[in-house]
Amino acid sequence: MNCSGAKRLARSQRNRRRETPAASNAKRLTADASYYPGPVPSADLWGAHAASPDPTDDPSSKVRLWGAHAAGPDPLAEAAALGATAVQIMLGDPRSWTAPALGVPDGPAAFRAAAEAAGVAVFVHAAYVVNVASLNNRVRIPSRKLLQQTLDLAGRLGARGVVVHGGHLTAHDDPAAGRANWRKAVDTLDLAVPLYIENTAGGANAMARTADRIVALRDALADSPHSSRVGWCFDTCHAHAAGFDLATAAADFRAAAGRIDLVHANDSRDLAGSGADRHANLGRGLCDPAALRQAILSAEAPLIMETPGSLAERQADRDWLGLTAAA
Ligand SMILES: [Zn+2]
Repeated sequence: MNCSGAKRLARSQRNRRRETPAASNAKRLTADASYYPGPVPSADLWGAHAASPDPTDDPSSKVRLWGAHAAGPDPLAEAAALGATAVQIMLGDPRSWTAPALGVPDGPAAFRAAAEAAGVAVFVHAAYVVNVASLNNRVRIPSRKLLQQTLDLAGRLGARGVVVHGGHLTAHDDPAAGRANWRKAVDTLDLAVPLYIENTAGGANAMARTADRIVALRDALADSPHSSRVGWCFDTCHAHAAGFDLATAAADFRAAAGRIDLVHANDSRDLAGSGADRHANLGRGLCDPAALRQAILSAEAPLIMETPGSLAERQADRDWLGLTAAA
């Protein structure tokens, strides 16, 4: 199930070159302001546990913003039923190029007000068709347009961030050209809402699947004038499928991406390294349960479960993580 020792060693050696061990450990062990250097103050996202130690020492008690992806017509009701403090939504059919729209009757302003009144943080997931890395103009140009439209509507909803997949190229494309396209997208997008790049599960020429590719993409975006508006979403099912060792995946991902702004907390129906993207309920897939829990909670970031099933199954996922429903 795990990566080979050689792979792990190579990865940790790469990580050491990027960051001193002391700095890396300090980042892992504290959640101070530098932990989330981006646009959202860390205190909103993560309990100040350094100042007020948690008597149970249970990392799940420190997750302030958590919830699930809501696909139904009333996302805030789904969040309330779970006792969640966050929710993730799509703005339309994720496999369509149709302009994004909020699928609730009362419109963006009312949704924003209701979410704020309920104390629920909103995250938006961009459509799966978006692929800003593509070397094909007929994919890349509409991708940028759809992503900007998604960001704009997310802004009207008061969203904390917009998640977008890292994208992929065809087999013989040069990944450096895909990264150049990513850079152009970030340079030209209006990022009133932060953009979180999500690691993906499979594909031989994916832009953000392996640690090496994540490092390269991060480096390509580092000196964009908009780089402070770009963060990273760490999906545990995708990391498992991509060959990360879940026991150290959160730290490895952070070392590669530089940060984790959101966790997609998912188990997997497939074997480690399979490249398959089939989510499972937590503790009921093929991820090692202890390593999965470690990966999710040691990411120290808001978390969204994208697990299948009914409310009861989401509640079981919540309880598996030890998250406490809001009163
Ligand atoms: Zn995900």
